[in-house]
Amino acid sequence: MSISPLPFQTSPVQSIQVNGLELWLKRDDLLDTYFSGNKARKFAYFLQGEQLQGGKIVGYGSAQANSLLSLAALAKLKQAQLDFYVQHLPSLLVANPSGNYQHALALGAKIKCLPAEIKGEQIEPYLRAMLKQNEPDSVLISEGGRMAEAKYGVAQLADEIYLWAKQQNLCQLNLVLPSGTGTTALFLQQSLRERLSSQGDVNIEVFTCPCVGSVDYLVQQFRSLSTDEADFPQIVTPTKKYHFGKLYRQCIEIWQLLLQQTQVEFELLYDPIAWLTIMPWLAEHRQGEPIMYLHQGGVLGNETMLARYRRKYPDLF
Ligand SMILES: *Cc1c(COP(=O)(O)O)cnc(C)c1O
Repeated sequence: MSISPLPFQTSPVQSIQVNGLELWLKRDDLLDTYFSGNKARKFAYFLQGEQLQGGKIVGYGSAQANSLLSLAALAKLKQAQLDFYVQHLPSLLVANPSGNYQHALALGAKIKCLPAEIKGEQIEPYLRAMLKQNEPDSVLISEGGRMAEAKYGVAQLADEIYLWAKQQNLCQLNLVLPSGTGTTALFLQQSLRERLSSQGDVNIEVFTCPCVGSVDYLVQQFRSLSTDEADFPQIVTPTKKYHFGKLYRQCIEIWQLLLQQTQVEFELLYDPIAWLTIMPWLAEHRQGEPIMYLHQGGVLGNETMLARYRRKYPDLF
């Protein structure tokens, strides 16, 4: 399969100040309105290739997932059809489409419900078997883009960061990003190490935290993508347990603080947990070292989260 150069430009890096701390912000949220953030990086491989053109893409996950929107955009760009399977379609969302779900529908995505008895680990094998029988030409994409192909686009992101750090004459950089499946963090650290062994000097360490499951779950995800522990990003353990998609006062507060101090809209599911977990850890253990935060997009999904936050903490709005 031949792959042509990426259609999107290098994403910009800007300097921000948060509570007096100066750091760099890599704006992957600005790659494209719909096809943005780490999903654009993870799906870049498919954007380049021919195999999806005019075909069928099948994905699965939550009806509000950032990956739903990016897959819908990918399908649109490839003039392909997206069937996105969900376990549960909230009736409130169907009655009042918003956020990622609404935008994905507008891009032509079809949302389909899985049979009630198919759950968790069973979903992917179920879809694989079903598609093999009924739609053998469709391409199934693992939840959240957890797949070997994701490395292609993430390696380009690693290159952008590496070249930028060289230009800045840095010899050390702490790169911060929250994890879901951990695919982006793992492939970033792996690609940066590969860069390093060939060209030397700037040492870029990736720091992440789990937002979807436990630290053990995240390590397990890393293991499924690489057998070499030296590729693993450093995991900072959250001081409190966050359940994915649940609302927390501290999360909306830090999100509002970031918006106020930087004028940048961060994402609401993942970013607050990284800011509450990794930043204090770095301030304590790696004080004074340069930091780059990776903005991984997903802000179109904020609409749904913000509406929920407004209902739960009206005093904050
Ligand atoms: C999907 C997503 C993540 C998680 O990425 P993984 O590669 O699964 O770890 C983090 N932040 C945002 C904004 C996302 O959309």
